[in-house]
Amino acid sequence: MARTILVVEDETTLRETLIDALETEGFRVVGAADGRAALAEFRAEAPDLILLDVMLPELSGVEVCRIIRAESPVPIIMLTARDSEVDKVVGLELGADDYVTKPFSFRELTARIRAIFRRDERVAATAAATAAASAVAAEGAVPPPVAVGTVLVDLAGHRVTRDGRPVALKPKAFELLAFLLRHPGQVFTRDQLLEHVWGYEYGGETRTVDVHVHWLRAEIEPDPATPAWLHTVRGVGYVFRRPD
Ligand code: CA
Repeated sequence: MARTILVVEDETTLRETLIDALETEGFRVVGAADGRAALAEFRAEAPDLILLDVMLPELSGVEVCRIIRAESPVPIIMLTARDSEVDKVVGLELGADDYVTKPFSFRELTARIRAIFRRDERVAATAAATAAASAVAAEGAVPPPVAVGTVLVDLAGHRVTRDGRPVALKPKAFELLAFLLRHPGQVFTRDQLLEHVWGYEYGGETRTVDVHVHWLRAEIEPDPATPAWLHTVRGVGYVFRRPD
């Protein structure tokens, strides 16, 4: 299946040139001309990579990058007008994967896009191989995706879908969900969850767990206010229970 690239650029000629050229390269491409449209397209299309201009109307590329990064690890290449802008963007530690400075050659841009996709394939292949190897060792089979109502959790592939549509979980929210799914019916304190999911070194606040549980419920529960699966055990912590 073709990878989807979201091109966010307010200069119409450049946006359309990029869209045409990337389509010619075999990608599926969607475009957005301002920051708000970029967020809407990102949420609707779940692209595999985003080209994001820094200077945009409505919301700047910097703001858009920050918002998307809080929701998803999708690769982002920032399009910057000057080297000084690159310094600024890098200094903000927005979590973009790469930067190109205008004017850039299309060959250079596609080389960077393909490098990011190759890196992702290596990471996915390693993760799948590791998951498959440990599953084979444990049970003699690759773990099938876990169905929770209409939510499908692919533990090996780190993907979650709801009613067939991808759900963008923050990485720690996914790890928390995966951990609880692996221990159904077992009650964990917030401290235990911090230790298992965030690691010993984290030393964070138990409020962090509550916030992530809140996000998870919003994404997977049919009614987040009265959880069907992800239950609070008053005075103790949290437990994942199947309704059956
Ligand atoms: Ca611009």
